[in-house]
Amino acid sequence: MEVTSFFTEYLGPRILSGLQTESIRYALGTLTTFFVIWLLLGRLLENRRIRKPLPRQRQIKQVQMELKNSFFAMAVFVGMDILVFEAANLGLFKKYDDISEYGLVWFWLSMPLLIIFHDTYFYWTHRAMHHPKLYKLFHMTHHRSHNPTPFTAYSFAPLEAIVSYLYVPLALMVIPTHGIALYTVLTIMIFKNAIGHCGYEVFPRHWAKLPVLGWLTTVTHHDMHHERGNGNFGLYFTLWDRWMGTEHANYLQRLEDQEDRARERKHAHQEAAFAPAE
Ligand SMILES: [Zn+2]
Ligand SMILES: [Zn+2]
Repeated sequence: MEVTSFFTEYLGPRILSGLQTESIRYALGTLTTFFVIWLLLGRLLENRRIRKPLPRQRQIKQVQMELKNSFFAMAVFVGMDILVFEAANLGLFKKYDDISEYGLVWFWLSMPLLIIFHDTYFYWTHRAMHHPKLYKLFHMTHHRSHNPTPFTAYSFAPLEAIVSYLYVPLALMVIPTHGIALYTVLTIMIFKNAIGHCGYEVFPRHWAKLPVLGWLTTVTHHDMHHERGNGNFGLYFTLWDRWMGTEHANYLQRLEDQEDRARERKHAHQEAAFAPAE
């Protein structure tokens, strides 16, 4: 293949299609979270703010940095998409196109399996990237957002973007996956990621104390990770953190404190509303 046609017929179309997929997914997750939680419901959710927001100018600067980092992370993802596409052509993956090949039951079952696999991959790679020898190169960029925003979701150094992406080829090597199942799981992932950084506790707080629902991470769970710079490493579930003893000891207390604060504010508002006018 000539150099020109390599670019026009092979690389160009693949870069464009990768950019389209990655940017649509990113925009869908981060912008929806930003518009719905920050702009539309921000006032209504005031009692659910986990921490005091940053001063406006600092917040704008942080979002600008996050968008810049996300742009480079997506460039990495597009490059990896092309490599994965080539690897798929070599028959390295268990990806399939016809649902009837594995049946409908497997199609639905494969999605929670992909999520459980992702949570395990995320927990261990995330924890490894907190090792002093790896932290600066891999993960410090993400933690520059001490008080995160929905755009922190993809605010990665290029090396962290590679680690984060490697979940896809690894999962495809072990789990027979239909294209729609993969797309659905990756869309859930970006929403979970953007919501997990949104700074408002949007999940019912009492879930954390319940037997099965308590396995799901809340926004506070990951927010504490950014606040303290350690512990609470899980993405979807609290289980690995609990098994490995890395969950913050006062995680549940923190949720309770939020509830108490919200109740106090509500009472104060009601009292003010019913106070006789002077
Ligand atoms: Zn971290
Ligand atoms: Zn984070």
